[in-house]
Amino acid sequence: MANLALSSIEKSFGTVKVIKGVDLEIPHGEFVVFVGPSGCGKSTLLRLVAGLENPTGGDIIIDGEDVTDEEPYDRGIAMVFQSYALYPHMTVAENMGFALRLQKQSKKERRAAVERAAEILQITQLLDRKPAQLSGGQRQRVAIGRAIVRDPKVFLFDEPLSNLDAELRVQTRMEIARLHKKLGATMIYVTHDQTEAMTMADRIVVLRDGIVEQVGSPTDLYDDPDNMFVAGFIGSPK
Ligand code: ADP
Ligand code: MG
Repeated sequence: MANLALSSIEKSFGTVKVIKGVDLEIPHGEFVVFVGPSGCGKSTLLRLVAGLENPTGGDIIIDGEDVTDEEPYDRGIAMVFQSYALYPHMTVAENMGFALRLQKQSKKERRAAVERAAEILQITQLLDRKPAQLSGGQRQRVAIGRAIVRDPKVFLFDEPLSNLDAELRVQTRMEIARLHKKLGATMIYVTHDQTEAMTMADRIVVLRDGIVEQVGSPTDLYDDPDNMFVAGFIGSPK
């Protein structure tokens, strides 16, 4: 059974259809990368999975359960954005534990979950700081930590590294890969960076203008692109 299944997903804004029938099955633990030109619908598709937008057609299934009409919070999905959106007045620990207040967890349980996540990300020493006292890379780790504490079924990353400089990008990319290995969780990662796509993905989903153009492993897409668009996007000489 797929961990996450999208079935005939469509999304219109007003009269403009931006997602035009997407089918995708992702097995548990897979690292899937969405690539495609700006405006092709990558973020919209993630927001639909997260429940931040409602599809105008189709179904979203998580672990066999139709969650299309479920509230974002009930889906067991955590999203990491490009802008970290940390609460400036809260400490790192409070930022990471905030979402857990909605689940009826005690203060002690919340603290334990925060400390576990902090250890995984090696940011234990930052827990009492405020976001303003952190570097960009550290803030991004906190944002990832906030996702981990919820122990989600699926992690969604929307171009999480685009605000970081080149060196930090490489570092954080390796960190996310390590995290994936360690947690064994399903992850969907949006990027427009081909190197990121090729090095991180179990499978790459190439999107174009609201449809899936091709799905396959990096090698599949590189060696055997279905068309010039995929070839151009993946950087094959073909
Ligand atoms: P990507 O992340 O691939 O760059 P998006 O998913 O952000 O693309 O956008 C896909 C298309 O949907 C774009 O044409 C964008 O302008 C449009 N769009 C996204 N969100 C909205 C919205 N809330 N209202 C109207 N149009 C939107
Ligand atoms: Mg986007």
